[in-house]
Amino acid sequence: MNVVFYEEYSLCPFCKEKSNKNGRRIRYINRNKPVKIQKYVCSDENCGKFHETNLENIVPKNSNYAHKLRLEAIERLLISYNSLEKISEEIQRIYGCKPCRQTILNHKIEKYETHYKNKIEKSLKYNRNDLSGVYGYDKQFLTVNGEKRARLTLLDLNNNTVINQKIIKEFNVKKRLKTF
Ligand SMILES: [Zn+2]
Repeated sequence: MNVVFYEEYSLCPFCKEKSNKNGRRIRYINRNKPVKIQKYVCSDENCGKFHETNLENIVPKNSNYAHKLRLEAIERLLISYNSLEKISEEIQRIYGCKPCRQTILNHKIEKYETHYKNKIEKSLKYNRNDLSGVYGYDKQFLTVNGEKRARLTLLDLNNNTVINQKIIKEFNVKKRLKTF
């Protein structure tokens, strides 16, 4: 474990005075990768507050999983025609940790979906020539925050293109199918 995250010029976030190094702590990224985080204490005695190196560019606040992993799970969920369990297994192969289905869904529900919407939409674009004319539809039932949801997927059966998909309230399945 050699990685140490530190701030080159550390200023106290509370009073903007210079901060001094004050030990390190270990944090686990993706639950399995330990890194050292430099901690600081404000040099102004009247303030004296503590802070540590901000990792939010890598891992969102209060999360175990890095942005990269979260985005990858969302992209797999939206772009490939895979179950949440399968995606979880793929993530495990790449990152060595296995976020549960619920965690993957939570990632999607959070701001990432909006943040990467353009990117995802772009990759979902297809034109008429890409489609074989043989279509199928599938649904998976999930629980999101204790509420039942259905994931509807319309796909081209010959070339495995996902044409559209939605996560909806389960009782709306029949109604929403018509909107495809
Ligand atoms: Zn301070």
